[in-house]
Amino acid sequence: MRRLGYQVVDRIVERWRNLPRASTARLATRSEMETRLREPLPWEGEDIESLLGRFWRDIEPFAGKIDHPRFFAFIPSSPTFASVLGDWLATGCNFFQGTWIESAGPSEVELVVLGWLKEGLGLAEETSGVLTSGGSVANLIGLAVARQRRVRGDLSRATAYTSVQTHSAVARALRILGFPEAALRQLPSDSDWRLSRDALTAAVHADREAGLAPFCVIATAGTTNTGAVDPLHELADFCEREGLWLHVDGAYGAIARLSPTCEPLLGGLERADSLVLDPHKWLYVGYEAGCVFVRDRSALEETFRVLPDYLQDTDVHEGEVNFGDRGIQLSRAARGIKLWLSLKTHGFTAVVRAIEQTIQLAVYAEDQIRVRPALEVVAPASLGIVCFRHRISGEGKSENLNAHNEAIVGTIQREGHFMISSTLLDGAYVIRLCPLNYRTAASDIDALLREVESVGKRVAVSEGEE
Ligand SMILES: *Cc1c(COP(=O)(O)O)cnc(C)c1O
Repeated sequence: MRRLGYQVVDRIVERWRNLPRASTARLATRSEMETRLREPLPWEGEDIESLLGRFWRDIEPFAGKIDHPRFFAFIPSSPTFASVLGDWLATGCNFFQGTWIESAGPSEVELVVLGWLKEGLGLAEETSGVLTSGGSVANLIGLAVARQRRVRGDLSRATAYTSVQTHSAVARALRILGFPEAALRQLPSDSDWRLSRDALTAAVHADREAGLAPFCVIATAGTTNTGAVDPLHELADFCEREGLWLHVDGAYGAIARLSPTCEPLLGGLERADSLVLDPHKWLYVGYEAGCVFVRDRSALEETFRVLPDYLQDTDVHEGEVNFGDRGIQLSRAARGIKLWLSLKTHGFTAVVRAIEQTIQLAVYAEDQIRVRPALEVVAPASLGIVCFRHRISGEGKSENLNAHNEAIVGTIQREGHFMISSTLLDGAYVIRLCPLNYRTAASDIDALLREVESVGKRVAVSEGEE
């Protein structure tokens, strides 16, 4: 066991050391992967050492290096080594963290970590929370509580409001909760990609007049497309006045509120009835770690608690918490351990510094894009995201701009020196840059922009030849 364990640690550390020189992603088709990995059901065991070899040969190389300093695609995640060790400890001890009787230590750690996050984000003392697998389940839990508290009877008349920029996890959560598709009113976003209060007011009033029953506004704190933050104070005022539940999906951006410099942008999220954040995105811990907070102390457990006879020994006393009562999972991993070890090892000051530094990297990228004539900013830097595109010189080419930028992204993804991704903003295909990694430096941004320019030129030549 020791020899194998040390071998795994050595390989992981080696992987970390080589990250800057490794390729960001090695893409592979399904048929290539089938050739490498498809096998008959293994009735007989075989030597684990050779299987570890196969892991490093046939599995690990065919996955994006999300923690590579030049991985700018989607939402990167770059855990600290302390977080990785925390995961190993929780796994090695195989804690069962669904009930207090089976995990007083790990459960107290989760309460402590949730308490730190509450304090850092400025949430009310009575707020209760739970760590989840990620933002998707956290949204599902928060919206289940909203349904429990604000929807009486008939789901078919209940309506919830959000902007078109909202993450798909929200629509999926409402579908799972049994709402008809039309219950989610996706309102157009304003010129800054935010939910507009005027559009919201009009929609809620029109729906009430039509006999529907609005129950919830879903704001986003850090949209996936552009990092935009909906006007939280305005929306909180509106919800208070109208008696609506305010759910804030801050899976991406809420953690930036730990930095006082983000107060102007993220102030107001403490007024949410339910709030989602994703420590596995910007808090530098590994997958999986999401989180949901609910302001009303008893609402989570009122929504999820069921006590069957065979769990009667697990009933709690005096402030003890069965985390299985706060969500969907009974058997659950002790995710708090990796947060505790990482946040204690580095301290919140270092974490906040890393968040601020990565926000500045996106601002730096925007500035550099503006001074490069071949590039154009489409959505300015917000909370560590900037969207831009490459222009083609010459006239009559604008209709090709989407295809042109798509070709650039495809080429860069295949070459594997950088990983970038794309999205559509008002129908325009844009390159989306999200530099969240604490290892990323301004020189990595410079190198990427040079690469986009040079690939852009190459692609334009081949387009001209067609
Ligand atoms: C990432 C994200 C989600 C989904 O979270 P997972 O952790 O991937 O399940 C939901 N909403 C927003 C705004 C996100 O950025």
